[in-house]
Amino acid sequence: EARAQYVATHDPLTQLPNKALFIDRLQAAGPSRGAVLCIALDRFGEVEDTLGHGAGDAVIAEISARLISICPEGDTLARLGDDAFALLWAGATPEKVKAVAGHMVRLLSAPCVVSTGRAFVGCTIGGSFLSAGVEPAEVLRQAHLAQSHARRLGGDGFSLYDPAMDQALKGRKALEGELRQALMVDGLHMVYQPQVNGRGAMVGVEALMRWTGARGEVSPAVFIPLGESCGLSDEMGAFALRQAFTDAKRWPGLKVGINISAAQVRSGKLLPILKALLTETGANPRNFELEITESVLLADEPEVHETLTTLRRLGFGLALDDFGTGYSSLSYLRRFPIDKIKIDRSFVTHLGQRPESDAIVKAIVDLADALELKVIAEGVETKAQVERLAVAGCNHIQGFFYSRPVSADDIDRLVTGEARLAA
Ligand code: C2E
Ligand code: CA
Ligand code: CA
Repeated sequence: EARAQYVATHDPLTQLPNKALFIDRLQAAGPSRGAVLCIALDRFGEVEDTLGHGAGDAVIAEISARLISICPEGDTLARLGDDAFALLWAGATPEKVKAVAGHMVRLLSAPCVVSTGRAFVGCTIGGSFLSAGVEPAEVLRQAHLAQSHARRLGGDGFSLYDPAMDQALKGRKALEGELRQALMVDGLHMVYQPQVNGRGAMVGVEALMRWTGARGEVSPAVFIPLGESCGLSDEMGAFALRQAFTDAKRWPGLKVGINISAAQVRSGKLLPILKALLTETGANPRNFELEITESVLLADEPEVHETLTTLRRLGFGLALDDFGTGYSSLSYLRRFPIDKIKIDRSFVTHLGQRPESDAIVKAIVDLADALELKVIAEGVETKAQVERLAVAGCNHIQGFFYSRPVSADDIDRLVTGEARLAA
């Protein structure tokens, strides 16, 4: 009977208490002093993919041994799920919690050596304190929320629960509801930013999504990730594609760039959605360039490779967006069927101010030439930047210097010559 009891309350791999026992102990602790820490592993999902079957168990065993080595004696360290641990710590104080959490983050960031290679996992930790009048289960929820907060700050770190996190969560939920609504009732729209060649002629546009919520315009840097976090990336992506495919029919001479998020590539629905929309709108793939970021290539899975190859075969161009800000592995450029690089605004902004920016831009342009890739600079705002880019060999420009993103009707006027670019 004791054996059965043990098995029901412990994780077979690590012998640590499981979630049920952790909750029991938390309830038993009552509103005493102490804290709950939620410890979530980062990048654990990739371990089995890259190091093979069985590597995950070896990594978990190693990680739990490291955690046990620094957990305060007599407290409950539990394994709550595949890649989640929790600590119930009676003697915790804010100072101690901060120090130990920091120690855990450093300790878990060291690679785990297993027979098939090295696994680089890390951890993100959230903490909350027990107090009178707060249900233990609520403290666990708070610690979890703090951990999500730390994850949004980039992971590999620690956050302590703060009631403002609940406010922010409420705000996100409200915004999420509004975004779903907007998607249903044509509340989103597209604008287009001109791309200019060395002679100052508009040769393309980039399609960018806009949303005006109940409290005014929301930045795509906010609502695109929000949409992704609630499973709307395919729908939002389909909206952008349909609108751009439709509008582009008015501009036969222009190449139209459309942003594709990593989530869209990963979902597996990109190809069927694209094919259906090509049929629906009669658009020609050769007029479009799909912009992806390095994070898409980072996964380096056969499916990603196949998707990108199929896109090229259909006739779409493929541009690597924000080039230079990610991993910028040169091997990506050879391995994947990319045909254009977009130099990120961060390098353009510092041209002439930081010598390394000029050097980096020159290097990217030379690299593009050597690999026979097209290249365009983004976020160009001044004449001086245009001139420096020309010196580096980059003549294709996108940025406020020529035009902000504008409506499709404004692009019509630029095409007919009724309106002219700013510069
Ligand atoms: P991005 O793809 O790098 O788009 C370029 C961003 O830089 C746009 O911001 C554009 O308005 C801005 N920009 C262009 N020229 C200049 C300039 O000279 N100076 C400055 N300061 N900014 C300039 P926006 O429209 O706010 O979009 C932000 C990001 O949101 C985009 O970055 C892209 O990652 C994402 N996004 C926008 N629309 C879509 C979409 O339809 N689908 C997806 N997946 N992502 C989108
Ligand atoms: Ca882009
Ligand atoms: Ca960009």
